[in-house]
Amino acid sequence: MFPSADDILFLNRASGAVEWMDLLRNALVRCHGPAIEVELQRPHPGDAFGFDAGADADEAATLRIDDDDGAPLARLRLHVPGHADVGNALRPHLGHLAALLALERARQKSHLADLLVDLSYILLFEEDLGTLLQGVIGYIYRRFHLSLATIGLIDPQSGQLSLRAFAGESRFPLELGHSWPADRGITGRALRTRAAVFVADVGADPDYIEGNALTRAELVIPIRHRGEILGMLNLESPAAESFSADARAILDLLADQIGGVLHLTMLKLRLQEVNDATQVMVSELAALNEKLRRANRRLAATAMRDTLTGIGNRRGFDLGLRRAWAQARRRRHSLALLLIDIDHFKAFNDRHGHPAGDACLRSIGQAIRGSLRGDDIVCARYGGEEFAVVLGDAGREQGMLVAERIRNAVRALALPHPDAPGGRVSLSVGVAAATPRAGTPAAELVQAADAALYRAKQNGRDRVEIDGELPDAQRAQA
Ligand code: GH3
Ligand code: MG
Ligand code: MG
Repeated sequence: MFPSADDILFLNRASGAVEWMDLLRNALVRCHGPAIEVELQRPHPGDAFGFDAGADADEAATLRIDDDDGAPLARLRLHVPGHADVGNALRPHLGHLAALLALERARQKSHLADLLVDLSYILLFEEDLGTLLQGVIGYIYRRFHLSLATIGLIDPQSGQLSLRAFAGESRFPLELGHSWPADRGITGRALRTRAAVFVADVGADPDYIEGNALTRAELVIPIRHRGEILGMLNLESPAAESFSADARAILDLLADQIGGVLHLTMLKLRLQEVNDATQVMVSELAALNEKLRRANRRLAATAMRDTLTGIGNRRGFDLGLRRAWAQARRRRHSLALLLIDIDHFKAFNDRHGHPAGDACLRSIGQAIRGSLRGDDIVCARYGGEEFAVVLGDAGREQGMLVAERIRNAVRALALPHPDAPGGRVSLSVGVAAATPRAGTPAAELVQAADAALYRAKQNGRDRVEIDGELPDAQRAQA
């Protein structure tokens, strides 16, 4: 006479599988006495169908309870001596228990989904790979109440697993970077088979190497990206129940996510290396360019300098005059040019010799340079014993003034020249000044200064003459 309608109603009101079982047990004891056994067996995590068939199958009724997707939720084992039909009587009423068990399973699944969300935050937002892996492993360790949890990554050089994150205890060294042979233990088997390995009872597994005495079950999942195994997620628990099929599915997903993150991190590192190398090359190139620029500047300066006197040479003069001419035209300034020639220098050479002539040229070059102020002045050796000076923003008067200053400076050197009328080295200077206009070349100014120099020679040397040849419009105001 079991179960009565009242009992079924009562069972259906139960809020959870455990309460349902208590009520069932009480009801059976009420009807059949205390010699009964009722047991709700949950599937073993290592084996979805791991129900113990039982030696006393003839006396016990076993009722299997599956979820909608076919996953085994539990088995109800009833041992009611002398009442083998109790199971059949109960069978139509197992739907409610199935619903309760399915609800429990759904709750567990949703907890696991929460776990994945928590871990996703670590995986997404942690920048440093070491901190990320440690965060993941610490979280799993706490969440699943594990005895040991590690992540080892395969070292490309040695092929061994290098410890990158850990939580828990082990008799093996738990130090970052410590390596674990790729063929040892259950991780070794996972590497060989390239698949996850779950061992529900490590005591019965020949590959198991004990690291933590509390460990009863071990789950090793390869961390991979596009089929390539990058490392191993190794989880050990004191209870096989930690690794339910649902939990294992979630941990599989997690290992895939870690694989993706690792791949990205390695890409980032490689990119960083390439960037760094490029940066080094760019700065080396910049340094080289700067060296080249400096060398070019030195070369340009050398090409413009007269080696004997140290002042500008003819090339420097030509360039300086062109620039000064263009600038004076832009600014509508006057420009003065001085052409300077040593008097009777051939005779000087003839008497004192060429080396002495060179020394004289050097002294005069320095004297001319020393008579000038300002940086924008062009001062050059124009020819053999001829010099030229360009004065920016200067008219005839200032040109004359500077020319006299130079002539006097050389006179003050008092270089003996017995063959010259004055007995010492002297200069003749021709001065010209003009405000450049568009279309008029600087050569006109040179011609004018040259004509003035010619006149100075004509008029007896050791003197300054100013040009009178330039058209009025070009002649600068004194
Ligand atoms: P003037 O007063 O008319 O200018 O007579 P000068 O003798 O100075 O002129 P000329 O053109 O006849 O001679 C220039 C001399 O300058 C010829 C050469 O001996 C000398 N000379 C030219 N370049 C150099 C040089 O680099 N070193 C030396 N030592 N002498 C030079
Ligand atoms: Mg001359
Ligand atoms: Mg001369």
